[in-house]
Amino acid sequence: SPHLTGPQTYSIACIPADGIGPEVISAGVKVLQTLSDASGAFGLDFKDYDWDSERYKRTGKYIPDGGLESLKKHDAILFGAVGAPDVPDHISLWGLRLAICQPLQQYANVRPTKILRGTESPLRKTTTGDLDWVIIRENSEGEYAGQGGRSHRGCPWETATEVSIFTRHAVERLIRFAFETAQKRTKKHITVVTKSNAQRNGMVMWDEIAAEVAQDFPNVQMDKMLVDAMTCRMVLQPQSLDTIVATNLHADILSDLAAALAGSIGIAPTSNLDPTRQHPSMFEPIHGSAFDITGKGVANPIGTFWTAAEMLRWLGEEDAADRLLECVENVCGRGILTRDLGGEAGTKEVTEAVCAEVRQSF
Ligand code: ATP
Ligand code: MG
Repeated sequence: SPHLTGPQTYSIACIPADGIGPEVISAGVKVLQTLSDASGAFGLDFKDYDWDSERYKRTGKYIPDGGLESLKKHDAILFGAVGAPDVPDHISLWGLRLAICQPLQQYANVRPTKILRGTESPLRKTTTGDLDWVIIRENSEGEYAGQGGRSHRGCPWETATEVSIFTRHAVERLIRFAFETAQKRTKKHITVVTKSNAQRNGMVMWDEIAAEVAQDFPNVQMDKMLVDAMTCRMVLQPQSLDTIVATNLHADILSDLAAALAGSIGIAPTSNLDPTRQHPSMFEPIHGSAFDITGKGVANPIGTFWTAAEMLRWLGEEDAADRLLECVENVCGRGILTRDLGGEAGTKEVTEAVCAEVRQSF
């Protein structure tokens, strides 16, 4: 009987993968479990998948046969980072991350960025509240469609093509999702980024589709930027931006810039969403495997905590998501910061402080 069912339990697939991935994911799981126990509002059931570069080197595959099918049974996927010094980056990226995002139709990549209380932007005079953005990145085609080829290998006339694919279907669904996101935010402002002065096919189609979609959102204010000018605006007038939508390549670059302007690449989250909710969505910190700091206990886990909050939000646990982010900001505000944010705390200290804050908040 529905009257007797307890709080909902979500099934979460964890793919910690490489480098600092396992360190930050285990910190994230600890914080999520603490939040679930303390709130009693929902349950979490974690299942670990050991899909990493070691497996690739051993077996030639990141994802074993049938792996995707079992992944599809979960409510959400929590992902660490992929990439190893002895595996070419394009192999690991296509072997694991894109091999999940593409078949699971996670076509919208969402990257919120803000300056957390108690942390600093490298921009002079830019503080908490001056920079509060969400970047929506096209995650299914564009410059990373994998189309192209090479001929005449090794010859001086060797030629490589890297073809960008833009389809009306994919561009429209993404821009529509971005407008819906903008509409839910306070400022109701969207910046559509292209390079339609130099790229006269796909980028001009983007501009046209954006203008069409904008008609359906009369209360959202839209402006257009070329990607090069956009980098200047992000640095010089961060207050003038809110929701930003861009192609796979452009948003990839802009979101790293955004993370750095907000203080550190170690704090920022990413959601790979299937807005149709046919398949589970995947949540990951924006940073990579960071082998230079792996095993040292200094990785900033906040990117994963924020990621965990975004995952809860997508699952419908808004209150828990807001509470978690609030607790993270309280801990930052008390100066418990990792080295990348100018502090001295390790992963463990920050994790324990956030867990304590979560328990205390109830
Ligand atoms: P990828 O190719 O997967 O993006 P990468 O090595 O190019 O990986 P990152 O792994 O993101 O890039 O790391 C860039 C630098 O930022 C690293 O040298 C690392 O010191 C620092 N860094 C990344 N993530 C964190 C983190 N969570 N905490 C502290 N420092 C970090
Ligand atoms: Mg990188």
